[in-house]
Amino acid sequence: MVEVRRSRRRSRTVTAYREGDTVVVLLPARMTRAEEKHWVAEMLGRLERSETRRRSPARTSDDALLARCQQLAARHLAGKTEPSSVRWVAPMRTRWASCTPADGTIRVSERLRDVPGWVLDYVLVHELVHLLVPGHGADFWALVRRYPKTERAMGYLEGLSAAAGWGITEED
Ligand SMILES: [Zn+2]
Repeated sequence: MVEVRRSRRRSRTVTAYREGDTVVVLLPARMTRAEEKHWVAEMLGRLERSETRRRSPARTSDDALLARCQQLAARHLAGKTEPSSVRWVAPMRTRWASCTPADGTIRVSERLRDVPGWVLDYVLVHELVHLLVPGHGADFWALVRRYPKTERAMGYLEGLSAAAGWGITEED
């Protein structure tokens, strides 16, 4: 979904950013409809290119995914959780990722290969915390929220699932 907002205070600059599942494009109030059409297309393209640049290095292989998990565990979870293996797997119908605490394995849906790195990081932190805490109680979220972009990433994933019609509502 794209929402165009016009501002009288803006004289020339055009800005676009994501707000949950909506892309907001800010335009100067004076722009014509033709200019608006041009700039909305232009800004959507730029936003997509910049998000592509921000994809995670972890997208390249299972080893890179494991390395990223180790960095995140050290940075946000005091190194208290350590997965034995982390793998990219074929898209799961209802989930972005899953884990097995008994053997410390994490599986991540291929659907997340192209999301921005900070979104993938949230999913990895979510699974890393599940290796320690089952379920989605207050103690679970207290640990996950040590990752500062948790809320934003959840909004991004909700929007992604809704836009693609995947019906994924839970990270599991
Ligand atoms: Zn979960």
